[in-house]
Amino acid sequence: MKQIYNFSAGPAVLPKEVLIQAKDELLNYANSGMSVMEMSHRSKVYETILQEAKQDLRDIANIPDNYEILFIQGGASLQFSMVPMNLIKNGKADYFVTGQFAKKAYEEAKLFLDAKVVASSKEQNFTTIPDVANVEIREDADYVYICENNTIYGTKFKELPNTKDIPLVADVSSCFLSEPIDITKYGLLFAGAQKNIGPSGVCVVIIRKDLIREETFNPTPTMLKYKTYADHDSMYNTPPTYTIYMCGKVFKWIKEQGGLVALQKRNSDKAKLLYDAIEQSNLFKCPVDPNYRSIMNVPFVTGNEELDAKFIKEAKEAGLENIKGHRSVGGMRASIYNAMPLDGIQTLVAFMHDFEEREG
Ligand code: PMP
Repeated sequence: MKQIYNFSAGPAVLPKEVLIQAKDELLNYANSGMSVMEMSHRSKVYETILQEAKQDLRDIANIPDNYEILFIQGGASLQFSMVPMNLIKNGKADYFVTGQFAKKAYEEAKLFLDAKVVASSKEQNFTTIPDVANVEIREDADYVYICENNTIYGTKFKELPNTKDIPLVADVSSCFLSEPIDITKYGLLFAGAQKNIGPSGVCVVIIRKDLIREETFNPTPTMLKYKTYADHDSMYNTPPTYTIYMCGKVFKWIKEQGGLVALQKRNSDKAKLLYDAIEQSNLFKCPVDPNYRSIMNVPFVTGNEELDAKFIKEAKEAGLENIKGHRSVGGMRASIYNAMPLDGIQTLVAFMHDFEEREG
């Protein structure tokens, strides 16, 4: 089979070792005689899979005991409404709008409470992140919301806003598990699985226990209350069993890689290789403010749409898949999550050199 490198923003590349293990276990998991897909979620075997996944995640992300880990369906997008429905108290929340997903979250929150944009990088076409030090947050806000890594634009907060006693809520979908994280800085954080965690189908929500309340937006459906998930260990109903099994495998893979410290080093080296190649090129440019560049999503352009299209087409022929930028911004974007091997970046950089020699 031809070697393919998959630069998709999500669903994204998974560790090969994990896929091989899943293949080996597909028909007969741990001598149960069945596939994990066929198992009752209430069975002992599956209970172990879920508990191990939770514990491994707690270990790798250093999640303190006063935080609950929840597995919720509906993607990261459902959190845009679950967050305001569950955290509402005074009926106010402050939003940083740094891209499309932050904007969607803000628009959704307006359905439930008085949501305010306290900072935005819209005027800079979302190529930067507002300076968190100069942002005024309402003292009676129920929470402050950020999208920590902006998948489409390739920006990342390098510092978190100091929200004092107000819970910080972060969409970490595209940066979670790429580097060590101080969970205690957040009231709640969530990540759609399909980037660094596993296949699509589940969102991991990590929430400080005191924020799990009975009193929520009135009315909040049972399935949209964090309390329902917390009280039933994410098993009030049938969870996405196979997806969670795969996430558990990825967590074990992360442990084997040396944890988040080792991954941060590897991810930074990978990103540096690509950013340096762009900086040194006379053809490619990265539109993102160097102070806020993501190490997971790297956008770049030639400045000429036709040439971008040619690059994307030829890259695909060379086995570099899904390098096209998001439809709303154009150009190219290489998503280089944990499971993208260094070879993938080296191959991309060599291809960029070659393309520049021919076309530059
Ligand atoms: N937030 C971010 C940062 C994302 O990148 C995405 C999509 N990739 C979403 C939210 C939406 O995720 P989902 O498709 O799981 O709802």
